[in-house]
Amino acid sequence: MSVENTDVDVVVVGAGGGGLTAAIAAAETGASVALLEKLDRPGGNTFVSTGSIPAGGTRYQRAAGIEDDAERMTADLLRQSGDHEAEHLVRFLAEESAGLVEWLVERHDVDLRIITDYKHVGHSVQRLHAPPDRRGESLIRDLSAAARRLDVEIVVGNPVAGLLVEDGRVSGVRVAGERSGSYELRSHAVVLAGNGFGNNQQMIDRWLPEASAAQYFGADGSTGENITWATDLGARLLNMGAYQGYAAVAYPHGSIVSWTSVEKGGFLLAPDGHRMGDESVGYSGFASEVAKVAEESWVVFDTRIRDFIAGNEPEFAELVTIGGVKEATSATALAEIIGCSATAVEAAITDQQRAAASGTADATGRRDFPMGPLKEPYCAVRSVPALFHTQGGVDVDRYARVIRQDGTTVPGLHAVGGVTGGLSGRSGGRGYSSGNGLLSAVGLGRVAGSTAARRPGRPAPHADRDPDGP
Ligand SMILES: Cc1cc2nc3c(=O)[nH]c(=O)nc-3n(C[C@H](O)[C@H](O)[C@H](O)COP(=O)(O)OP(=O)(O)OC[C@H]3O[C@@H](n4cnc5c(N)ncnc54)[C@H](O)[C@@H]3O)c2cc1C
Repeated sequence: MSVENTDVDVVVVGAGGGGLTAAIAAAETGASVALLEKLDRPGGNTFVSTGSIPAGGTRYQRAAGIEDDAERMTADLLRQSGDHEAEHLVRFLAEESAGLVEWLVERHDVDLRIITDYKHVGHSVQRLHAPPDRRGESLIRDLSAAARRLDVEIVVGNPVAGLLVEDGRVSGVRVAGERSGSYELRSHAVVLAGNGFGNNQQMIDRWLPEASAAQYFGADGSTGENITWATDLGARLLNMGAYQGYAAVAYPHGSIVSWTSVEKGGFLLAPDGHRMGDESVGYSGFASEVAKVAEESWVVFDTRIRDFIAGNEPEFAELVTIGGVKEATSATALAEIIGCSATAVEAAITDQQRAAASGTADATGRRDFPMGPLKEPYCAVRSVPALFHTQGGVDVDRYARVIRQDGTTVPGLHAVGGVTGGLSGRSGGRGYSSGNGLLSAVGLGRVAGSTAARRPGRPAPHADRDPDGP
């Protein structure tokens, strides 16, 4: 394909965290980039996330006295996930992670700070870097501003309907939408950043039957077509049975009940007042435990934990303000709020207090209660388990090039984030470590953009290690 009949250098499909990062990485080398978003605003799942990106060995960690590196991060993620089909990406993204976060903060003014008040699921040290208000919306705002500074056109309301392929090479996209009309856009390379299939019931039924009945809590745009186009071109699929669940979304408020409430010493009760298991498997793994028992549950903690979280997390503070966090002066009053037997609630609280005070395991085998025994007054949030996003997708190499089943790459095609095979195990929700979603979106986004933009005579610092060229 010659430069003359190319409309832009790089087309990026989907303006979430992965797509915006790919666009920034491509545009900073001087490439022309079109970023096409099917919905009316950029954001996707990244917008509704907490915007937390894990990175091992950043200067921000060192300044906070946290010792960490890529090797430790790799070991942590693999411990949580167990063996799986995308381990090459775990190692690679852990190695990339510190440079990635520093590049976003220092080169592109994305406001990310190391979170020191919790580690979250899967991490043995504090390594999540998030916007100060811990909202994905802020991450999207900063990434969009960085992209615009580099003259990236973020074209909303323009759904990509398929890929153009010439002589086996992806040469652009076909757009077809009510507002946009139909047109073709030609490019040297296409980056698929349209996320997974959380909002496609047919694909969920096929790949994640255990989550078929779960309420989907992610963005509308995750309908799986990016994965289908890549598989039509022969792409290999990885870890298709894996997903991120979340055990406790506040009902009916619809906001995330911060897992810090559990990590600091709280627990979940079924509607009959009984514990459902050891919550330290994490918010994703515990979602299926809740779903096995009931349609909803109650997160129980105390006012010390409530005030600690509300002081750090605005979304949780809002939940408190709008009355989503109920307060009870005693176990009996708590049982009345839940609508269950006081005996069961008292037993659960007494067991937590005994285990936390003595440093021994509670009845579920759990030992970790950093804020000690729960104290009156108690708090409770009514909640439901949810599916946040899917973790299965296409295989890519360390340049985010899509790999076919025969091990060759699809020329001109890259994929990032939820389109790719995730870092969270082969199947189920237990393998998910906090931040796995954005690590693969933003981490692969950076290498995809840089590699897709590569042309003779144009610097592409992040892709220069590619021995074969684009
Ligand atoms: C409530 C919640 C909290 C979460 N918290 C975290 C967290 O703190 N840390 C973390 O790592 N992960 C978190 N996750 C997961 C994380 O949000 C996702 O893994 C991540 O945002 C995926 O990024 P992405 O760029 O691949 O997709 P997205 O951010 O979803 O972006 C994809 C975009 O592509 C668009 N698109 C799709 N198809 C097309 C098409 N055909 N044409 C044009 N546009 C298209 C979509 O509309 C969307 O805007 C959370 C998820 C949820 C739901």
